[in-house]
Amino acid sequence: MKSSEDFDPSYEPRQGLRRLTHRDADWSGLRILVAGLGISGFAAADALWERGALVTVVSADSTSAIEDRAQILAILEVDVRLGPEHLLEVPEGTELVVTSPGFRPDHPLLLAAAERGIPVWGEVELAWRMRAQSGAAPWITVTGTNGKTTTVKMLACILGAAGLRATSAGNVGTPLLEAVLHPDPYDVLAVELSSFQLHWQRSVAPVASVCLNFAPDHIDWHGSLEEYRRAKAKVYEGTRIACVYNVQDQATEQMVRDADVVQGCRAIGFTLGLPGPSMLGLVDDVLADRAFVEQRKTSAAELATLADLQGDSASVAPHNVANALAAAALARAYGVGPLSVRDGLRAFVPDPHRIADVATVDGVRFIDDSKATNPHAAAASLVSFEHVVWIAGGLLKGADVDALVQSVADRLRGVVLIGADRQQIAVALMRHAPDVPVVDVPDTDTGVMDLVVARAGDLAQRGDVVLLAPAAASMDMFDNYGARGDAFAEAVHRHASRHGGPAAS
Ligand code: ADP
Repeated sequence: MKSSEDFDPSYEPRQGLRRLTHRDADWSGLRILVAGLGISGFAAADALWERGALVTVVSADSTSAIEDRAQILAILEVDVRLGPEHLLEVPEGTELVVTSPGFRPDHPLLLAAAERGIPVWGEVELAWRMRAQSGAAPWITVTGTNGKTTTVKMLACILGAAGLRATSAGNVGTPLLEAVLHPDPYDVLAVELSSFQLHWQRSVAPVASVCLNFAPDHIDWHGSLEEYRRAKAKVYEGTRIACVYNVQDQATEQMVRDADVVQGCRAIGFTLGLPGPSMLGLVDDVLADRAFVEQRKTSAAELATLADLQGDSASVAPHNVANALAAAALARAYGVGPLSVRDGLRAFVPDPHRIADVATVDGVRFIDDSKATNPHAAAASLVSFEHVVWIAGGLLKGADVDALVQSVADRLRGVVLIGADRQQIAVALMRHAPDVPVVDVPDTDTGVMDLVVARAGDLAQRGDVVLLAPAAASMDMFDNYGARGDAFAEAVHRHASRHGGPAAS
């Protein structure tokens, strides 16, 4: 880590913007272009207008929600321009562009801003600079290819169990701007950051930060794997107390090594193996802390047991143990005691469609992990079970499934393929699992889940798991991963009632 005593969190090459480090700074008269009029664009325009900035908002679309927002802003005399023709050039005199997450960095408007040397901030950068001048809630930041939402929510539960007024914010939960401007201030924020948000981040200085894991994803948005990695690595920049990394994912450790942090900031590892000094890890079924204890060379503190993580589930998936260790490390870095870690993890309830037990029918567990929308997530999911009938397919977004299929081939009882890119998975299965039966379901209407579930049930044996972990996005067949998971769960319930009545869920 490169550490500097005088780390300047308000880094800003432009003199005029350097002073804008808190919400009571002088924003008045600043000419700002807000790109996009979704929820975050509207919130940005409103907050900036309130501080006297001269705001112009542009949006290519004009849905009824956007027109409603436009009307409100027009009453405030904000200059709102709807229609794609307004997204080609930056208006004369613009000093700053605030962009919405939907805009890719190569959008003509943002390229035009770059060409003219006009800084571009994302919603996260703006929120950071809209904090109170003193006593603002510190941020604990979480990114990673997979596990962000789970970890951030675990963290928020732990902070809550410690008696702190905390919330999850950012890419999940409360919008960040709303969280920082909340009239009843938070003590601390658990902030989920996507790579899209990190791309535009400049000066955020969290108390603790983590990149949970790193695997190829969103290359279409970032332009290359290296750009995606660079965005993820930004989560560590400016960290004050602890950069938390995944001992079993070398890329995250390297990001910490390269990060520019505040002097005294520590590197803390988490691992599913035995923890070394300055790590959190597993000792049998105990989540153990060898980082934030007095004698870390010789002793460890017990934080929780695997049973504390299990809830009503029959077991806890290893990747969720890793997420819990990361959340615990972040909370401990912030000074939370071991008992609050345990209580927070006990209180945590996973969001839907993340390894959710739907029902057990004839001794076969049906599990909905529709949120496994990329191969890295599906791999974590599949290795959680010994014998699996895998339901896979959808939009692979250019991702390669060969390594995934190879790594899980020996636990596949059978595979049911759905969606647009199923042929690519079929080819990988032929190569690495030629003896595994594969059912190809070409229909794309949403009602097809009954057939999918029935065929998966046929392939399964007692004690097996039927796992919806598609390794792909859902939009070829469904509105989103939630709708895909719901369709699966409904089909499983119908399947259960055909096989002897109500099943445990
Ligand atoms: P994100 O917010 O990053 O999308 P979630 O917590 O919503 O992450 O989990 C998304 C999916 O990723 C889960 O359904 C699971 O399949 C997988 N997953 C969760 N945590 C991890 C992890 N630590 N490593 C690998 N895969 C994970």
